[in-house]
Amino acid sequence: MGRIPYILSLILLISFVRVDARIWTTVDGRTQTGELFEVEGEEVGIKIKGREYRFLISRFILSDRQYIREWSKVSRCHRCSKPIGNSRVREAGSYKFHESCFKCLVCNKGFQGGEKLKRDEWGGMVHANHFNQAVMCDTCSRIISLAQLTPQQILKDGRKTCISCASDGVYEVKRMEEVRKRVWPTLAALGISLPKGDVIIRVVGKDVIARQALKINARGNLRGLTLTTYKIVSTSKSTRTTFDHEIFILYGMPHIECASVLAHEYAHIWLNERFIEDSPPVVEGFCNLVSEAILLREKGKLASIIRENMKQSDNPVYGAGYRRMKQRLEVLGWTALLSEMKRKSQPPTLR
Ligand SMILES: [Zn+2]
Ligand SMILES: [Zn+2]
Ligand SMILES: [Zn+2]
Ligand SMILES: [Zn+2]
Repeated sequence: MGRIPYILSLILLISFVRVDARIWTTVDGRTQTGELFEVEGEEVGIKIKGREYRFLISRFILSDRQYIREWSKVSRCHRCSKPIGNSRVREAGSYKFHESCFKCLVCNKGFQGGEKLKRDEWGGMVHANHFNQAVMCDTCSRIISLAQLTPQQILKDGRKTCISCASDGVYEVKRMEEVRKRVWPTLAALGISLPKGDVIIRVVGKDVIARQALKINARGNLRGLTLTTYKIVSTSKSTRTTFDHEIFILYGMPHIECASVLAHEYAHIWLNERFIEDSPPVVEGFCNLVSEAILLREKGKLASIIRENMKQSDNPVYGAGYRRMKQRLEVLGWTALLSEMKRKSQPPTLR
C-alpha cells in the first residue's frame, strides 16, 4: 500500500508541469494545444508536442491575443521564458535569468561573474574556452553544445542546426510549394512579375548546389541557385524567346529562411528573363534586397537575425552588394529601381 502516495505525487507533478499548455484558436476556427514560450514583435512562439512553431499574433482570436498580452507583461527568464518571480535573478546586458538558467551550455556550471563568455541572441551562453565544444546553428546562430546534438540536428550534408530550426525545416517539394505561395504576394507588391518560363524547384543538399554552381562559375556558401536556359525561335515574321528555370534550394532550412532564399532566386529569374546584366555585387545585391523584403514582412526574431547577418556580411558580393543596392533603393524606391535595372538589359542578338 505504501506505493500509492508515490504514484499520486507523480501525477500531481505531471499536471503541474503541463499547466502552461492551453488550447489556441485561430480566427478561422482551428484549434491546437500548445505552450507559449516567446513573444517577439508581432509573432508568438508556441511549443506544440515538443516542437517550436512561430505564428503571427493576428492569426489568433481575441481571447488568445489577450492571453499573449498578459503573458508578456510578466518579467521572464531569457533562457527558459518562465516567470522570474521571487527567485534569485542574474542579469546579462538587458536580459534577466533565473540563477539556475545562468549557466554554460557545454559544462552546465553556473557563471559566477567575471568569466569570459560567448553568447548568442537567444539567451544561450558558454564559457569562452568551451566554445570549441559547441557549434552555432547554421540558420539562427544559436549556440548548441556538441555533446547534446541529436541525429535530427545533423543534416546529411553536414550542416548542424538547433532543435527549433530543425523542427521547422523544409525538406520536401510539397512544403516548398507553401513557401512559394507565401513569397509571391510580397514580390508582386514590389512590382516583380511572375516568370514567363517554367520553373522547377529542387530541394537539395549543399553538395548538389556546389556542383551545379560550377556550371555558372558561382562560389561561396550558397543556399540557393538558379539556372536559366533560353531558346530564341526566329522566323521571317517574328522572334520569340522561351525560358526554362531550375531553382536549387537547400533542404532543412526553416520556413522563413527558405522564403527569403526562394525570393532571392525568383529575383534572379526576373533579371534573367530580361537579360539584365551587371557586376556580381549589383546583381546579388539586388536579389538580396528582394530577400530582405520578405524578411521585413515576417517581422519575427529569426527574420531579424537573418537580416542582420546579411547587413553585417563582409562578403564583397553579397554583403557589400546588398549595402550598395540598399542605398540605391532608398534613393529611388522600388518602381524606379526596377526601371533602372531594366535599362541594363542586353538581349542576345542572332547572328
Ligand atoms: Zn530560466
Ligand atoms: Zn563551460
Ligand atoms: Zn537555429
Ligand atoms: Zn544569387
